[in-house]
Amino acid sequence: MSGAAVGLVVAQALPAEWGGVTTIPDALMYAGIAAGAALLPDLDSPQATVSRSFGPLSKGLSHMVENSCQTFVNLTRGSKDSYCRNGHRTATHTLWFALLTGAAAAFLMSSSFERGAAVGLLFFFLGLAIRGLLPEWSKKADWLVVTGVSALVAWAAWEWAPNSGSGLVMGSAVTVGVLTHLAGDFITKRGIPLLAPLPLGRQRWRNLGVPRPLRIAAAGPMDKVLLSAFTIVTLVQLYVVVTGTTIALDSPVLASFAP
Ligand SMILES: [Zn+2]
Repeated sequence: MSGAAVGLVVAQALPAEWGGVTTIPDALMYAGIAAGAALLPDLDSPQATVSRSFGPLSKGLSHMVENSCQTFVNLTRGSKDSYCRNGHRTATHTLWFALLTGAAAAFLMSSSFERGAAVGLLFFFLGLAIRGLLPEWSKKADWLVVTGVSALVAWAAWEWAPNSGSGLVMGSAVTVGVLTHLAGDFITKRGIPLLAPLPLGRQRWRNLGVPRPLRIAAAGPMDKVLLSAFTIVTLVQLYVVVTGTTIALDSPVLASFAP
């Protein structure tokens, strides 16, 4: 939900001269990609909701990601880092992962196979977004249903979205989503190795976070408060984007509708 909220805000803030989106469907697409990408880092945990998005396929991918992360940590760890037994919250929870995944998405969406890549990425990230935004529903629904729904929405978006944003801007939605996830984990008790494997003393994978007293429990009451807050921001932003009535009158999204 935080990915959707931040995605909607950024979609409106990016100026058209920079390749920003200028139509409502494209702004929603941007937010959809950001919402999905906000779940991407937890693909390193086969138990996570996101890893069930596409049934055995994403489950298998998740095991691969977790194992590769674990190997990567053990190959790069400093003399004071302990041996890594589980790849969760390691390589996919760094600033570099946010930048690399965004760059890869931007490359795919601006290259010669632009059309196919955009549909493919949209399908993948919408699948994650549905899991994230409708956790109760998607928990009960079979993964095939979730996959079908994301395919349908991706197809509809492709049919009706004018694709006004540049490949670079659409790719940035992935970085925005991943960074939102990292911000969320950053304020939890455990923190994340944000800058790993850059050395911090004799450690390379030390977890960083906000000062101890400000940290929250990963599945505690503060989680609910934040979910409510981000739901409200998302709904207000959706209203602003779709109706074009309030705060963002001079935003690029709404400018396209000016007479
Ligand atoms: Zn995480």
